[in-house]
Amino acid sequence: MKPAPFAYTRPRTLDAALALLKEHGSDARLIAGGQSLLATLNLRLSSPGLLIDIGSLAELRGIDIAGDQVRIGALTRHVEVERSPIIASNVPLLSAAMPHVAHAAIRNRGTIGGSLALADPAAELPACMLALEASLVIVSTQGERRVPAKDFFKGLYATALEPDEILIRVDVPTRATDWRYHFNEFARRHGDYALAGIAAACGPVQQGSADLRLVYFGFGERPLRANHVESAVLKSGFSSPTLEKEVAAAVGLDLDPQSDLHASAATRLHLATVLACRAARYFSYA
Ligand SMILES: Cc1cc2nc3c(=O)[nH]c(=O)nc-3n(C[C@H](O)[C@H](O)[C@H](O)COP(=O)(O)OP(=O)(O)OC[C@H]3O[C@@H](n4cnc5c(N)ncnc54)[C@H](O)[C@@H]3O)c2cc1C
Repeated sequence: MKPAPFAYTRPRTLDAALALLKEHGSDARLIAGGQSLLATLNLRLSSPGLLIDIGSLAELRGIDIAGDQVRIGALTRHVEVERSPIIASNVPLLSAAMPHVAHAAIRNRGTIGGSLALADPAAELPACMLALEASLVIVSTQGERRVPAKDFFKGLYATALEPDEILIRVDVPTRATDWRYHFNEFARRHGDYALAGIAAACGPVQQGSADLRLVYFGFGERPLRANHVESAVLKSGFSSPTLEKEVAAAVGLDLDPQSDLHASAATRLHLATVLACRAARYFSYA
C-alpha cells in the first residue's frame, strides 16, 4: 500500500514546529523516527494533510542528569537509551527493557518520545515510565507543562497530548542504590510486541513493607499498575511458599484481559501471576 498524498516540512526550530502544529491542528502529524507512523500511513489508517518532521530539532535529543532527575530528550533513539552509561547507572530498568523493544534496526531509528506518544498498550516503555514515576514534559505555543506518567496514558493509543503539543522530554527521578528493578515479558518471538509483560520497581524493605510498584503491559488498553497484586505480595512476603496462591487470587482484581487470537484471558491471567511471582522472587534475592 502507499500513503494518501501529504505535504512535508522539516522545521529547524521547536518554535517553528509548534507554530505549524497550531496553524494546522489535527490535520498535521509529527514524525520522529517514523517506525510506527509510516506503517499507519501506508495502511491508510491515518491520512494527515501535513507531516511535520521534528528529526532535526537537536535540542530534543540526548540524556543528562539535572539534580535528582535523569532527563531523556524525546528524540533520543532507543539504541542511545539502550547503550547509555547514565541510564545503566541510574535507571537500570530502562536498560533491561530496551533489548525487548522491537528489533535492532527499529531501535536504531525509533525514538523514546515516539514510543510514549504512540502509547501502544503492549509497549515496554510506557509501563517502565509508570513504574519509575517519570514525568512527561510537553510544550505548545501556550508554554510548558509536566504530566506524571500515571496521568499521561489515557487509553488505547490515547494520551494526554493535545493536537498542538509536542512531547519534548521525559524526566525520570533517580533513586538510592538500594532500589531494585525487574523487567520481564512473554513474546512469541524476541522483538515482537509482548503478549504479557511486567515492569517492576521496589524500594528498601522495612518491617515487611516497601514501596513496591508492579506495572503490567499487554493486558488492557494501557499500562496498568497492579495495586491488589502489590498488596498480596507484601502481605504474603516476597519468598513465601503461598505467594503464587495469594497472587493468583489478586490478579483478577487488577486485570480484566480479553481473549484474542494470541492468548485466552485465562492464559493471560496465569502469565500475570507468573510475572508477579518472578518479580517478587527476584526482589527477595537481589
Ligand atoms: C516490526 C515492528 C516491531 C515493533 N515492536 C515493538 C515492540 O516490541 N515494543 C515497542 O514498544 N515498540 C515496538 N515497535 C514500535 C517502535 O518502537 C517505534 O519506534 C515507536 O513506537 C515509535 O517511535 P518513532 O520515533 O518511530 O515514532 P513515529 O513513528 O515517528 O511516531 C509515532 C507517533 O508518535 C507521534 N510522535 C512522535 N514523536 C512525538 C513527540 N515528540 N511529541 C508528540 N508526538 C510524537 C507521531 O505523531 C506518531 O503519531 C515496533 C515497530 C515495528 C515496525
